[in-house]
Amino acid sequence: MKYWVSLLFVVSMLFMTAGLASAATTVPKLVLDGKELKPEEPPALIGSRVMLPVRIVGENLGYIVDYEKTKKTVTVKNGATTIVMTVGSKSATVDGKKVAIDAPPTVTKTGRTLVPLRFINDNFGATVYWDNAAKTAFIYSAAGNNGGTGGGDAGGGTGNGGTGGDGSDGGLIGVVDPEEGGDPTDGGTPPPATETPASSLIHSVRFDADAIVLKYDGTVAPKTSVLSGPDRIVVDLPGTDFASDFDPALPADPLLGKTGELAVSGHAALQKIRYSLYADNPKTLRFVLDLSQKWNFEVQNDPTAGEVKIVLMQPDQQPQQPDKGVYTVVLDAGHGGSDPGAISVAGKSEKTFNLAVILKLQALLAGDSRLNIVMTRSGDTYPTLADRYNLANSIGADLFLSVHANSNPKNTIKGTEVYYSRDASLAFANVVHQYATTAGGLQDRGVLKKSLAVTRETVMPAVLFEAGYLSNADEEKVLFTEDFQNRIAAGLAQAIKAYLNLA
Ligand SMILES: [Zn+2]
Repeated sequence: MKYWVSLLFVVSMLFMTAGLASAATTVPKLVLDGKELKPEEPPALIGSRVMLPVRIVGENLGYIVDYEKTKKTVTVKNGATTIVMTVGSKSATVDGKKVAIDAPPTVTKTGRTLVPLRFINDNFGATVYWDNAAKTAFIYSAAGNNGGTGGGDAGGGTGNGGTGGDGSDGGLIGVVDPEEGGDPTDGGTPPPATETPASSLIHSVRFDADAIVLKYDGTVAPKTSVLSGPDRIVVDLPGTDFASDFDPALPADPLLGKTGELAVSGHAALQKIRYSLYADNPKTLRFVLDLSQKWNFEVQNDPTAGEVKIVLMQPDQQPQQPDKGVYTVVLDAGHGGSDPGAISVAGKSEKTFNLAVILKLQALLAGDSRLNIVMTRSGDTYPTLADRYNLANSIGADLFLSVHANSNPKNTIKGTEVYYSRDASLAFANVVHQYATTAGGLQDRGVLKKSLAVTRETVMPAVLFEAGYLSNADEEKVLFTEDFQNRIAAGLAQAIKAYLNLA
């Protein structure tokens, strides 16, 4: 977690660039399932947050939206769900259950209520994606063209027996909040003139040493899903189009449309890569990897190189056999690559701490034949949150553990926290608390329930361990010592074994 540090950073950037910032002001746009909504109050950037007008968004997603002036509450409901938010309050309820809202709803001068993009993404059954270059919030409703369009793969039909709902991984993916994705105050490029801006052009696709490599300019937020019967991996890139120099060249005949395929030989699972302009509004390219068998993968997005890699990884040799007591444990080092996570008081990155601990933990568990350890990353790469939970879900992992370090503007706050999101994870959270919090020896801030993507969207017991606060000078020093990292890695290893009865 790194909201506060980023916020402070953005605020200080604002002061530094105040002279420049006024030069380029673009009214942010709101696009739902490819159609631009024209709200009277546009999306706004407040601090580092993207805030969206809740009424127009809610109503267009099929909710009834009510504002009660005296109580300052906004109620958003449909047949299934009731969400109540209060202006100025950082807590809301979803079906009577209290949930945190990452920034309090605010009322504008014109009387419209704005709520954080992320809260809408997490609770409104929609996927919301902020494109900072186009200053546009793209919303994909579950019913819209992002979901259940009936399994149309790329490349126009190989008779796959459309399994329906390609990419319908519940509308929870690809959130790029500005605090995770660059400085929203940069003024930036004006949005393209068309209604469906493609913020990025894809120049090529090739297969190279176990990875599918896509070259692009602009920004991309790949969304992946895993399908079976036949096995395939689907990668969607909302807001992208083929560059005119796309390699391999697209068919010259416009009637054939923008589709193509690339045969692959010599790989144990990958047979071919199909690609097409899958959706027009907004333009979305789809790449489908046709497999002869289920295969693991990791998405690596390197914006500096303008390269997305889908790295194919051999699944564990033996299929998991629970009766033999082999458990699959996914270890997740938070952040990575382009996303440093929180920045410590001494300027160190959270991502480095997280990876160091995860690698130590992996080393401790590697020798145990009863465990199959799978890493979401083992280097300085950035799998998206969806990549992380999709990986764990697609391989049927038994446990998921994410390691982070926390940050808070109040630099006196310190200590270790254990987070979980679903009740099914509480027992594992308690065991992590018992062993790892104790092993670290910092202040014990307990076991906390919070809606976090990786612990919420996974389907196995899943815990996010916040080892300590990088914003606290004393604690930061401890966190970066080998001794502390070894102790919590040992505590986490003990917790995993204790929970699985392997101790
Ligand atoms: Zn973090």
